[in-house]
This record gives sequence, C-alpha cells and structure tokens, in this order.
Amino acid sequence: MVKTDKNQKTKENGEKTTPMMAQYLAIKAEHQDYLLFYRMGDFFELFFADAVQAAAALDLTLTRRGQHDGQDIAMCGVPVHAHEAYLSRLVKKGFKIAIADQIETPEQARRRGGHKALVERAVVRIVTPGTLTEDSLLEARAANYLAVMVERGGQIALAWADVSTGDLQVETCDLLRLNGLLARLEPQEIVLADQLIENHRQSAWYEEWQEYLSPLPFSRFDLDNGRRRLLSLFGVATLDGFGDFLPVEIAALGALADYLYLTQCGQTPLLRMPVRGAGGSLMEIDAATRRSLELTRTQQGDRAGSLLAAIDQTITAAGARLLAQRLAAPLTDPASINQRLDFVAAWVEDGAGRDALRVHLRECPDLERALSRLVLDRGGPRDVAAVRDALIVAAALQLQLAQNAVIADHPVLWAPIARCGRQLGDHAILIDRLGRALADELPLLTRDGGFIRDGYHPQLDHWRLLQRDGRQVIANLQARYAEQTGVPTLKIRHNNILGYYIEVTAQQAPRLQTDDMKAQFIHRQTISNATRFITTELADLEREIVAAADKILALELELFADLRGEIQGRIGMIEKTAAALAELDVGAGLAELAVRYDYVRPAVDDSHDFVITGGRHPVVEIALHKQSSRFVANDCDLGPSARLWLLTGPNMAGKSTFLRQNALIAILAQTGSFVPARQAKIGVVDRLFSRVGAADDLARGRSTFMVEMVEAAAILNQATDRSLVILDEIGRGTATYDGLSIAWACLEHLHDVNRCRGIFATHYHELTALVNSLAQLCCYCLKIKEWQDQVIFLHEVGKGVAERSFGLHVARLAGLPASVLSRAGQVLGDLERDHSLRNPLSKPKKKAEALPLFDLPKSSPALIRLQQLEADMLTPRAALDLVYELTAMVRRDG
Ligand code: ATP
Repeated sequence: MVKTDKNQKTKENGEKTTPMMAQYLAIKAEHQDYLLFYRMGDFFELFFADAVQAAAALDLTLTRRGQHDGQDIAMCGVPVHAHEAYLSRLVKKGFKIAIADQIETPEQARRRGGHKALVERAVVRIVTPGTLTEDSLLEARAANYLAVMVERGGQIALAWADVSTGDLQVETCDLLRLNGLLARLEPQEIVLADQLIENHRQSAWYEEWQEYLSPLPFSRFDLDNGRRRLLSLFGVATLDGFGDFLPVEIAALGALADYLYLTQCGQTPLLRMPVRGAGGSLMEIDAATRRSLELTRTQQGDRAGSLLAAIDQTITAAGARLLAQRLAAPLTDPASINQRLDFVAAWVEDGAGRDALRVHLRECPDLERALSRLVLDRGGPRDVAAVRDALIVAAALQLQLAQNAVIADHPVLWAPIARCGRQLGDHAILIDRLGRALADELPLLTRDGGFIRDGYHPQLDHWRLLQRDGRQVIANLQARYAEQTGVPTLKIRHNNILGYYIEVTAQQAPRLQTDDMKAQFIHRQTISNATRFITTELADLEREIVAAADKILALELELFADLRGEIQGRIGMIEKTAAALAELDVGAGLAELAVRYDYVRPAVDDSHDFVITGGRHPVVEIALHKQSSRFVANDCDLGPSARLWLLTGPNMAGKSTFLRQNALIAILAQTGSFVPARQAKIGVVDRLFSRVGAADDLARGRSTFMVEMVEAAAILNQATDRSLVILDEIGRGTATYDGLSIAWACLEHLHDVNRCRGIFATHYHELTALVNSLAQLCCYCLKIKEWQDQVIFLHEVGKGVAERSFGLHVARLAGLPASVLSRAGQVLGDLERDHSLRNPLSKPKKKAEALPLFDLPKSSPALIRLQQLEADMLTPRAALDLVYELTAMVRRDG
C-alpha cells in the first residue's frame, strides 16, 4: 500500500500540488507500466498520459483537472459500475491496468484525520490479460492461460496457469519444441525475464509471441524467491509433496506465483497443486501444423470454421474448455485413448441417458470460474448461487448414473463413467445450506445487499422487520406496554429531541411509577397534560431501527463470508465435481457428434497402420451439408507396403481436403473422439506435420518460399517412423526445376530416412517416376470426368496418376478473359512439347536406358519391318511371332 503525505505540498515554483494529486502521483510512481484507474467516488479517473491513451483507446472525452508543473492535467474517467466493460476493451488492446481503489469510507477518513482528511487509496489489483477472472473479460468457452518462461543452464521451463479455473502445470522443453508448446496452450500472456528476450530475439517463438510478452527484471525469477512464493501460495512448509520437479521448473512455478502475488495484490488465487504437462505422452503438433489444420481457430483467427467449432457439441462452458484443451493435445498412449473412447462409446450406446444428461447440463453454470472468483474475494452472490446450482446438477446426474440400467449391464465399458459419477461427490449439506441462505433474486455485487433469504438468520429477519416494518414493531410494543401497565391509551410517539418515547396522560402516569414499574419505565419529561417515559428496550429498538440498514448490510456481508468460507472449506471436493461435470459433458458431447454426423469408433493401437475407409473431412462435410451438397468419402491406407502416397490431381479436385481430412481423423482419434469415416484403424501418431496452403509471412520478413523451406526443414529433421506427414506441394515458390528437384529429394528423404507415413500432393507429375525407385511409394490421384469440353470433379481418390492439372479450366471458372485463356492454351501446348524434349526428369532414369528402340539407326531392318507393317491385319498368333522376330532383329542390330 502506498502511504502519502496528506499535507499540501508546495513546489519550488510556488505552485501547489493538491493532496489528492500527491497521492495519485505517489501511487503512479510505483505503477509506471500500467494505466492507473484512480477511484474518485463513483468514477475511476485517469490522468496525464494515461488519460490521453485511454481516451483514444476507449473513445472517451478528454477533459482537464487543474494544473501540474504549469501544464494542464489531462483527465478522463469511467463510471465504477460500468468499468469492467472498459477494462475488457483496454485489455484486448494490450493495456495493463492498475486499479487504485478507496480502501476506507469517507466516514472512516474523517474519523481518522478530521474533516479534510483524504480517503486512503491503494492499488488493489493489476489487470493483465493472463490474470482475468471476470466473466465479462473472458471468453466463456476458452481457457485463459498465463505462462511463465524461465531458462536455466540451457533448459527452458514453461509454467502455465488458468487463474479463472485453477489449472496449474509446468513442462520442460528445448527450443525446438517451445513454439509448438506455446501454440498448444495459446497463452494470453507470457511472463519472462527481460534478459531472456535479448537472448531469443531471433527465435521463431519470439517472432510469433512477442505481442504477448510481459518482461520483468531478472531478479523476479530467482529460484529461492520462487520457492518461498510457492510455499506461501500453497500454504505448505516444504515443496517435497509437490513431486519431482527440476530446479528450472520450480523457478518457473515460483515466478508464476510471484507474478500472481504482484498482480492480485496479496490475494491468493485458487490454484491446484502443479502437475507436469503430459509432454512425451502427447502427439506433437507444431505451430505451423496447427495453423494449417485450423484446429481451434481458422487461419483468420476465428473459432467458427475451425475443427473445434465443427465438433463441439458440449453444453457447458467448462465442457467446451476441456474439449478445446484435449483437441489441442491429443494423446499417444493407446490405453488412455481407448479409455476416452470407451467413455464416448458408452454414451453413444445409451441415447436416452445421454439426452437426460444433456438436459441436466443445460442448468449447470460455470462452476470453475465462479469458484475462482470466490476464492479471490472477487465473487458476488450470483457466484455462490452458481456453486449451488452446479452442485444441484451434479446431485441429479449422480442419481441418474446410479439408476442407469445400462451401466449395470456393461460394467467394463461404463467403468470410466461410473468413476466420474463417484467423483461428482456428495454435497447435500452444502446445497441445503446455500439453498436456505440465498434469496431468489440476486444482485451482482454483495454491497448491493438483499441476497440472503428471509428466514435464514433470525437477527437479519429482525432487522429487516425493523427496517421494513418499523411502525408495526412499535405498535406491537405499544400494545404490550398498554396491557402490562393497564393503560389502554398509552402511546409510543417520536420527536427529534427525545426520539421514541412512551406517553400517558398526567392522571395515568402514576401507574408507570409504581415500585414494580419504575425500574422499567424511566421518566423523561412532564408537559402540561402528559408524562413521557422511555425504556431501555425502546431505546435499543430505536437504535436498531436507525441502524438497521447498516446492520442488515454488515450482517449480510458476514453471512456471505460464512458461505464463502463453507465453500472454500470443501473446495477440493467441489473442484473434483467440476472436473467430473466437464468430463461428462465432453464425453456426451462427442457421443452426440458421433450419432448426429455418423462417426465411428476408431481402433487405436501401437501398430504402424493407418487405414481409413470412407473417410470424410469433418469441417468441409458440414459446410457442404449446409449447401445440400454431398461430401464424397475416400479411403486411405498408408500401411507398411504403401507408407507414402503421391497424390496428383487437377486444381480444385479436392487434394487439400483429402490431405487435411486424414490428418484431422488422426487428431480426432487420438483426442478420444469417434471419427468421420466408415472404419478407421490408426497406429498412434507421435508427431503430425501438415503443410497445406502455406501463406506468405511478409510481416516477419519471410517470403512464401522461405517459409516453405523452413517448414520442410523442420519436417525432414524431426519426423520419425511413427509420424504422419501431410504435404501439399513442396517447392512451388521458386523456379520450376529448383522446386521439382527439392520436392524430389524431399520425397526420397521422407521415404528412406524418416520412413514416416505420409501423403504428398503435387502438380509435378514428373515425381511419379519415383515409384520405380521408392518401394513404399504409391501413386494416387483425384478422378475427374471430361464431358463436352467441361471438367467434372468427382472428388474420388483412386490409384494412378492424374493426366493433367487442368489449371486453365480452373482459370476459366475464375473468369480470366477469353483472350488470355486462348493465348495460355497456345503457350501451354508449346511448353509441353518443349518440356518433354528437354526435361531430364520427364523420363525415368532407368527406363529410358532400357528402351533402345528409339536409338535405332534409320536403316535398321527392325525399323523398316515396323514401318511396313499393317497392324490391323495381324492375328494374335502373327503378332506374337512378330514380337519374337523384332526382338531377334534388334539384338542383332545392338
Ligand atoms: P488446388 O490444387 O487448387 O489447391 P485442391 O485439389 O487442393 O485444389 P480443394 O481445395 O481440396 O482442392 O477442394 C476444392 C473444393 O472441392 C472444396 O472447397 C470442396 O468444396 C470440394 N471438395 C473437395 N473434396 C471434396 C469431397 N471429397 N467431396 C465433395 N466436395 C469436395
């Protein structure tokens, strides 16, 4: 907390800095890197350069407030009640914001320092993209990771947490894998030492993620400091219980804890014990492959149109986040994959159960995020209600699972779901308590009050009665006193001097002054015709009525803290419930997908097989379906005898679609989802590489060809015999022969050295000659039909080589001028003739040597015999004789 000098400061030039501005400047001095939201009553105000930046970013009017150093102080402000919306816009634009709030009421300030005392303010939170918890600032169906990167002794550790859900993990990796890991997590903020940036300015990851970096001084990444922060974050005395983490990992986790301490200003967020990221047991998918396959976002950055959007049938936000997390990190262990597949299969089988489950889930709020806000003391009554409602759903689901007859019939298949059912836990007591405690209509903020249900707490009811029904309470008391004293005309009245008092006529006054009565009825005043009394009970009642409003709010806040404490006391079990709810949602969602779009369970094992029968592209299929068009299913068998496919076909025939669909099917299968195919058998893929539709990366100073070569290098250096490589035309962006030679050599390398499974699409038909030398290379092509000068794309993949690329046909479809098309046709004819004469690759090496016929001299008897021949006149027998005759002649000539 920043304490400020409350006395007016006089500057050397005689100008006065107001106490408020002095306080502002002191706080700002400690938060230079942030926009400072400074609370003034119902507004957060920004001053100086902060105001200028915020006004521009938020489209606010810039005003001024007095002067400082002879200059106008620029100012703009946002109302407190609406400030979250402004924060959201600023965070999205890359700003970080320090919130300086009033930490005492004006009343408290006056009591502390007299009439002119300045309300104490302090930064209560620093808002950064990676530390958000408010629903209004977060995407409900996506995780929000804060990552911390530490490098020590050549090792890089990445720790990441989702403060809004409590997930905390750490992983060590080398530079090569770092970019892939970041692409998997898509962190919103990466904290690292400024020095590390200097060392990595040339690295691929830096180029990709530089907008997300939050550099801090190196000292913040100190191992001992990190250890201490971790101990305090988890409230433990030793890190031994954490498991076996490397020093570099502890340093990263510690720096993460430190950053949270810094930004949350002492509040400890809800984080689960750290776990080591699954690392080696995940399919490795590098950043370029993720982009190319549009797994969670399209290349334009939208969720719509991605694989995730196509397969997401989850109901809850937590389910959607879990699905996204799984899709970003497919597994490689067949047993774990099959366990997930069992989960989906069980829900496929039990359609009625699935429907019932999904109906319940519709009532389930975002438990994880509500919990995290409550723990950070940022939660309101609606968060407590969210916990209650989610736990009610969990209880209903538990009952449903317990009564499910299908489970009893298939204990093995249902084992994972039964485990999930147990994990839902028993929260009956808490549900009952929260149900009794919370009112039906809830305000957003605790300070608005009115959220505790009538009848929950006698004292609260009493005060509310006083507040709402003060008159009635007084009337009841008056009736009681009248009866007790035997003075039916006794009245309770009120004036500003006495407050509440009891009044009887002068004649009746003695009745209240008997020995029994006078201890209770204290005489206050006698006027001409009446005598006035008070009682301690009435005085108390008065005080209570006057203070009821304050007391009601204070008691509600106390009860809220109790409820919060109760929830926090069971946090471990509630977190398990939240995890089980998300898992059930994902499993049932994938089952729904499978049934709705006719997906099958893939067989996943340790083999090197890759057999897809009737495979479809999950995203294109849905898009075509919307246009009432049918997707043509295709087979793909990359078994040991045909590991590499060379795919040719005209433009627009569907090569890219076919390439991608096989990669996507592998990802879906290893995520634990059914797949869009009639049948699928997949030997787990350890790494997936996809280069389809490479784009220019001019922003990073790389040409298309450079990008392509960098990516090709990554594949050739990393692919193993378990990998799947999907390549769309290598070597396009350079001169034809350069490109062709590179593609040629890459194919040979993939076949002989990497020995991976793969599909290689190309328009270089010359490459098909490689089938003669590469035993496991097969040629496939996309079929077309030519009809009345038109090309019809059948979208069918079959054995063989495409005759031509039909590029001119596509150009015609695209509307190129007729004159250009006809000239292009001429040029193409010339080039093809010329090319077949000169191109050394147009004739496969060995076959050309094995065909000496065209080298025969013009006077050769064999040639003369052939020229005289009338082939149509030959019987089959005569033709065979002729072959023997010609062979003998050629041998003699040779
Ligand atoms: P280019 O060589 O020009 O890049 P391509 O051969 O890669 O073309 P794609 O982009 O895969 O062609 O496909 C072109 C269009 O054809 C797709 O947008 C899709 O609408 C349609 N298509 C592709 N495959 C199929 C299929 N199997 N069934 C139905 N339509 C398909």
